Amino acid sequence: MRITIIGSGYVGLVTGACLSDLGFKVVCLDKDEQKIRALQEGEVPIYEPGLKELLARNRADGRIRFTTDACEAIEQGDVLFIAVGTPPAEDGSADLGHVLSVASMIGRHLKSFKLVVNKSTVPVGTADKVRMAIAHELAHRGMPTHVFDVISNPEFLKEGAAIDDFMRPDRIVVGVDEGIHKAKSQRMMSDLYASFNRHHSRTVWMDVRSAELTKYAANAMLAARISFMNEIANLADALGADVDHIRRGIGADNRIGYSFLYAGCGYGGSCFPKDTQALVQTAKAHGQDMSVVSATEQVNARQKMLLVERLIARMGPDLTGRKIAVWGLAFKPNTDDMREAPSRVVIRSLLERGARVRAYDPVAGQEAMKALQDDCVGQDHLLKAFELAVNEMQALDGADALLILTEWKNFHNPDFEGIKALMRHPYILDGRNLYNPQALFEWGIAYQGVGRRNAL
Ligand code: NAD
Repeated sequence: MRITIIGSGYVGLVTGACLSDLGFKVVCLDKDEQKIRALQEGEVPIYEPGLKELLARNRADGRIRFTTDACEAIEQGDVLFIAVGTPPAEDGSADLGHVLSVASMIGRHLKSFKLVVNKSTVPVGTADKVRMAIAHELAHRGMPTHVFDVISNPEFLKEGAAIDDFMRPDRIVVGVDEGIHKAKSQRMMSDLYASFNRHHSRTVWMDVRSAELTKYAANAMLAARISFMNEIANLADALGADVDHIRRGIGADNRIGYSFLYAGCGYGGSCFPKDTQALVQTAKAHGQDMSVVSATEQVNARQKMLLVERLIARMGPDLTGRKIAVWGLAFKPNTDDMREAPSRVVIRSLLERGARVRAYDPVAGQEAMKALQDDCVGQDHLLKAFELAVNEMQALDGADALLILTEWKNFHNPDFEGIKALMRHPYILDGRNLYNPQALFEWGIAYQGVGRRNAL
């Protein structure tokens, strides 16, 4: 079985790299010529631990290659994965422009049976639209309109641990509908994922619509857990309780578990914010009200501003002349992804209030700069007050406050003496609850975590 991956971003590249490592011949297609040229030259346009090595090994062994030639790539694969972006449209619904343009492209080039597997996160009903778009092109070319199947195989990998997630999945969701190709499609997917099902079957088979909705349900559930804990943390702050005790106290209950119970300064990334919004929009279009998911989003929007509000409570709304240090820009550690990162909201708000911001991130600095340029179009004066530091200590020089926005490992055990010496006012607003409030109190550093019985 030969594989073609259409869309060579975070999901497409990881999928391609992992499947090639399992021995499949893989072609990765992208419309971005610069990206493909870089990949052909052995560069990897994104930061994902282990990806560079995996791609290099399989490229050297001739199992994976990269192209912008759609005709050749579609001819090549027995299985065509769609892994293009589904960004939010203006109303929050998923913009299917890329997915449907890929579907039409497949229809224009398809010559023999292909299994089209949708990996992009798409609203229920999208597979039907993909089928129609392919069939439309085939009919236009005078070809039979049943020489393909469209199935759903949503992706659950986490950026930062994507290869491990792909190679050791908790489950593989595959949605296949009734029809003349059902048995063949199921057989092909079973063969494709056989390596993961040797010990016991991890594949959860279902119909396409259920598979499409499963992905949104998973992300909405995870986002809801975070927002729930953030609300509990804010209440703990008001009541003088500690959310970390509460986390352990409830996580020990098997029905709850420990995952995704960390309070902080809000979730970001390319999935939770857009997928929760899209789910709300899908529900709205079908006359349903997703109150829990809507509340999840509202809590998160508020939470992203929590540290700014605390800074204002201490320093007043006008931050002119204040120097603020920021540690962590990516939406989470081990990635350079800046999509919907809380740091974007926080930094923009600080700059608008007149602060100077110096920030450090181990890998996302350049991506952050691009994101801030996008966020501050036509407001060059704001950008002038922002700079990247070369390391975490340089960010602190003369600072009035340090905001921690991403829990990179390097930030876990900093040089507190150095922090005290470098900052004008040793004051840490910890949006990721990295430190022990009591220890910081003993260091003589003013400290506020999120819901942490702060020893201010
Ligand atoms: P991405 O933006 O990193 O990559 C998408 C790629 O598709 C880009 O390189 C783009 O150039 C390419 N592309 C767009 N239109 C194309 C076309 N017509 N032909 C060829 N290439 C085209 O996106 P991503 O983060 O990999 O996400 C892809 C999908 O997977 C989204 O639906 C997302 O919601 C979902 N998903 C993402 C993650 C994640 O952690 N990033 C996890 C699970 C699911």
